[in-house]
Amino acid sequence: DHLISQIAAGEVVERPSAVVKELLENALDAGSSSITIRLEEGGVKRIAIIDNGRGIPPDQLPLALQRHATSKIATLEELENVATLGFRGEALASISSVAVLTVTTRTADAPHAWQIENGKITPASGGQGTTVDVQDLYYNTPARRKFLKSEQTEFGHCAEVVRRIALARPDVSFSLSHNGKTVDHWNVSAFDKRSASILGDAFSSARLAIDESAGPLRLHGFIGLPTASKGRADAQYFYVNGRFVRDKLLTHAVRAAYQDVLHGDRYPSYVIALDLDPALVDVNVHPSKIEVRFRDSRSVHQFVFHAINRALAQTSA
Ligand code: ADP
Ligand code: MG
Repeated sequence: DHLISQIAAGEVVERPSAVVKELLENALDAGSSSITIRLEEGGVKRIAIIDNGRGIPPDQLPLALQRHATSKIATLEELENVATLGFRGEALASISSVAVLTVTTRTADAPHAWQIENGKITPASGGQGTTVDVQDLYYNTPARRKFLKSEQTEFGHCAEVVRRIALARPDVSFSLSHNGKTVDHWNVSAFDKRSASILGDAFSSARLAIDESAGPLRLHGFIGLPTASKGRADAQYFYVNGRFVRDKLLTHAVRAAYQDVLHGDRYPSYVIALDLDPALVDVNVHPSKIEVRFRDSRSVHQFVFHAINRALAQTSA
């Protein structure tokens, strides 16, 4: 069973940033309004995520670390309509099979916190919420560890995961540190302010607000004017029902909409969200994949293309 866990872990947590993503999603699912991310040595030495969410009751603590133990999906029907971010119940189990995992947690009504490490539960101190501390990632799977890139590269991937999530959740404050130094900090704010502070001044001074609906589809957010385009594809954020995706169909629709106004080898900058009935989209693909499957991909493509194309056409008219 340990081997099976490690194999599954390779899929769920292929590098430190994948661990960060899973833990942040758990923190958000727990209703947190403030999340601190502390990384050491690109996340390989340590990933600590501190949230102020609802916590885990002590009797559920051992279960939370077991494979396919999720408190979030009770029926198959629910699986079709996932509202929470995590639902497979394998992140914590996978992480604990390839790292030293300590969870400290306290619910609102508990007199004190509880900590679990190595299957042992002990009383602990701490306020309401959960701290998940992941140390020495892949210590027991050296082959995977060898696969990792430099500390700065791994940290870069982690920071990007934090940015993607912070853009989608301006109602939550985030703080990110690396090797003891605070790298990013975002207070709770509105979406336009959050996106301005993450994407920078160049983007926020040359962007268009977009908000279009058609039937069950809504597209909203900001798209960069052609003058804000860059030679790098590093400011493209697309969300489907609150999840960051990098999907061929969507990327193509955006690119096609910009085709007549973008010159040379340039990329548009954007942060846009597509919201639709969860029954019309399958996000239950693969934990580490950021692709989605639409029931009617043709009409989604057309909708996205036309919404952006129209907005851009108005500025050049
Ligand atoms: P999943 O998120 O798919 O349910 P995980 O392995 O990520 O599976 O987490 C297992 C369970 O542990 C969750 O269903 C949840 O009940 C609990 N849990 C994990 N992280 C947190 C957290 N930060 N706050 C509250 N509960 C948590
Ligand atoms: Mg989860």
